[in-house]
Amino acid sequence: MTCIKLIFSRRPRLKVGRLLGAALTSRRCLHDEQVTRESSALPIIHHSKYVCDLPLNHRFPMGKFPRVLHFLIKDQVITEKQVWVPEIASKELLSCVHTEEYLNNFINGKINEQEQRRTGFPWSEGIVRRCRYETGGTVLAAEVALQRGLACSTAGGTHHAFPSFGSGFCLLNDLAVAAKYLMGISSHKRKILIVDLDVHQGDGTAFIFKEEPSVFTFSVHCGKNFPLRKQQSDLDISVEDGMEDKEYLSTVETHLPLLLETFRPDLVLYDAGVDPHWEDELGRLRLTDQGLYQRDLYVMKTVVSRGVPIAAVIGGGYSRDIDRLALRHSILHRAATQVWRDCGM
Ligand SMILES: [Zn+2]
Repeated sequence: MTCIKLIFSRRPRLKVGRLLGAALTSRRCLHDEQVTRESSALPIIHHSKYVCDLPLNHRFPMGKFPRVLHFLIKDQVITEKQVWVPEIASKELLSCVHTEEYLNNFINGKINEQEQRRTGFPWSEGIVRRCRYETGGTVLAAEVALQRGLACSTAGGTHHAFPSFGSGFCLLNDLAVAAKYLMGISSHKRKILIVDLDVHQGDGTAFIFKEEPSVFTFSVHCGKNFPLRKQQSDLDISVEDGMEDKEYLSTVETHLPLLLETFRPDLVLYDAGVDPHWEDELGRLRLTDQGLYQRDLYVMKTVVSRGVPIAAVIGGGYSRDIDRLALRHSILHRAATQVWRDCGM
C-alpha cells in the first residue's frame, strides 16, 4: 500500500483511460478515444494481446480469450463499440504486489525450470506480455466500474500468484494489483471486497491481503481441489466434490449479502471462474451453464443494487474444446448485460 501511495502522492487523480497500467508513464492510452466518446453500454475490457503462443498440446486453453470476445460480438450480446482496450501494466504498477526480484526475473526470463513447472508455463516474452496486458485489463475494469458501476474483462483472475512466485497458471496477481492500485489512488482508503468463485481457492490473493483490513477476501472453492495447501482468506467456504447448482447458489446467497452489509466495500472485484462447471477438466463440482448464469446474475445484481461498483474477470475454465469453453466464459458477460439492462445502468 505504502508504495502505491508514494507513487501517486504527487499526481492528480487520473481520468479513466489515462491510468491504465502504465499510469506512471506519459504514454497516451490506447482507449482515450473510446473514453471521450460517450457510451452508455456495458464496458467490456479486452486486448488482442491477452493471448500468446504456447507449445503444441499445452494443457492451458490459451485460445479462449479472443474467442470469448468473438462469441459476444457474433451473438450480438455486445458491439465493438463497447470494447475498452487496456494498456500494458508497468513494472512500477506491478511492484505494489510483486517483489522487485521476482519482477526482474519474470520480465527478463530468469525463471528456472522448477519455478516454471510450478507455474505450468514455459517462460517466453509472449507470456510476460500477455500477463501484463491481462493485469492492465483488470485494473481498467476496476477503474471503469468505479465510474460506470459495472465492467467486465475477457481475461483475469490469476489468483494463485504470490508476491515472489507464480503458481498454477498464474504469474501476476491481477486482482491484487487492481485492489492495491485503487486503494492507492483514492483520497480515502477504499475498501475492496474480492469475491472469488473460481473452483480453486484464491490462495495468492488471500496471502497478499491477510493483514490488510481494507481488503476482504471471500473464496468459495472445492476443498479437495488445488491448491493442496490452502491459505486463509477472510472467509473461506470449502465445498464438497460434486456440488450442484441449487446447493452452490444457496451457499453464495447465504454469505454475500451479509458481507456487503457488514464490510461495506467501495468496490467489489469478482472472479467468475467457470471451472465449477460439470464438464470442466480441473473442477470437481457439477454446476450447469444455467447455474453459472444464475450465479453471475445473482452476484452482480446483489452488488449493483446496493450501489456498489463491481468489476468482473473470467477466472479459470479448462476444456480441450476451446469454443465450448469460450462460450461458457461468455456467460459472465451475458449475465452482466442483463444486469446492466435490468438495473437501468
Ligand atoms: Zn480455477
